[in-house]
Amino acid sequence: MEAFYTIQGEGANTGTAAYFIRLGGCDVGCHWCDVKESWDAEQHPLTLTEDIVSAANSYPGKTVVITGGEPLLYNLAPLTSQLQQEGIKTLVETSGAYPVSGNWDWVCLSPKKFKAPDASVYPFADELKVVIFNKSDFKWAEAHAAQVGEHCKLYLQPEWSKAADLMPLIVEYVKQNPKWRVSLQTHKYMDIP
Ligand code: SF4
Repeated sequence: MEAFYTIQGEGANTGTAAYFIRLGGCDVGCHWCDVKESWDAEQHPLTLTEDIVSAANSYPGKTVVITGGEPLLYNLAPLTSQLQQEGIKTLVETSGAYPVSGNWDWVCLSPKKFKAPDASVYPFADELKVVIFNKSDFKWAEAHAAQVGEHCKLYLQPEWSKAADLMPLIVEYVKQNPKWRVSLQTHKYMDIP
């Protein structure tokens, strides 16, 4: 759908320069999704894997974030192996709705209520990033945390449009449950993509 070089704004890799590769296509259907134009893959012309890798390699930050849409709709083995052959780190942002394909240096699992993660995805998660939209979401976040591995970092992130109301709740929750950390969409504060 699009690709751009920017700074990862959220989660464990916040502040890292990275080439974002956004794949078209998503059937998860989050009502607060801020990239609804990604949902219909047919709207986005196909791009050769080699061209994507070559573009990613033209930037000094040798890290890519593959996002969507829901990137795991596709077999990502060819793309990720070619990126890694060029010495580029591969990070993915996924709802976990489909089994993991590809070779990853970092898997960020961000489950969505509208389509539960496939059970096979949890062990791959290096980072669990739960978007908090209302008070009941803390319980929902714990249900996912119970399924990831011990190495997985846990993040709670306020949904952007409700961040002002939710921040005090999240701050208090993390103070009481310090296995969690706060994630903010810092790119939105920095006004970068
Ligand atoms: S999974 Fe991501 S791209 Fe798909 S609807 Fe939800 S927020 Fe949007």
